[in-house]
Amino acid sequence: MTQRKRIVAGNWKMNGNLALVEAFSSAIQPAQFPQVEVVVFPPFPLIAQVAKTGIATGSQTVSEQDAGAFTGEVEAKLVAELGASYSLIGHSERRTLFNESDELLVSKFVKAQEAGLTPILCVGETESERESGQTETVISRQVKAVIEELGVATLKDSVIAYEPVWAIGTGKTASPEQAQQVHKFIRDLVAQFDTEIAATLPILYGGSVNEQNSDLLFAQPDIDGGLIGGASLKPDSFKQICESAVGNV
Ligand code: PEP
Repeated sequence: MTQRKRIVAGNWKMNGNLALVEAFSSAIQPAQFPQVEVVVFPPFPLIAQVAKTGIATGSQTVSEQDAGAFTGEVEAKLVAELGASYSLIGHSERRTLFNESDELLVSKFVKAQEAGLTPILCVGETESERESGQTETVISRQVKAVIEELGVATLKDSVIAYEPVWAIGTGKTASPEQAQQVHKFIRDLVAQFDTEIAATLPILYGGSVNEQNSDLLFAQPDIDGGLIGGASLKPDSFKQICESAVGNV
């Protein structure tokens, strides 16, 4: 079987402070989790602090612009300079609350890669899209937006996170079978363009993952780790989730 990179990523959203970085640094040493890349996505001002702890880090978004007169925006190159190695692109909160379109996200994806950051492209359907049988159509549109504009080779150095919108922050996680079904759909979709890239592409699951459900989710053949929101703010819970990824390598 192809050995894919295992990743457990914590998305702090607009939460956390210097004290939380300190708590993480005491609780989590990357060497405790062999073969698993543990990544923390704090708010921008904490990236350099997290980088100093030795835990891999990244930004929750980047600007689609190069440096210039864009008040309030943050350039991907600066994120990289602070010690980050990843950026989330297209988290559902960015898509919904900040009206980020597939087209705009392609530009952000490019800026992240140009700066040497690995983009984690977030995709996922809403509850009403799932109920009306649109899950595959939506995911396909979100993934193909990148492949058709940039070419499938761009996915060689990236990660996809499947995050059903109805499962984010709601406590309603997808069942391991539901998640596996969509992860396989994504891998098969990428395989239509390039089988080798599809086989090595890490696909993470996100949506109410916690230390109770992570083991079964990570045991699925096409789930290569998780993107964790709420539980990533609690060092002990996050640590247990990382441990379940080690157990499922
Ligand atoms: C997220 O925001 O990416 C997420 C998955 O949140 P939660 O784990 O809280 O559902």
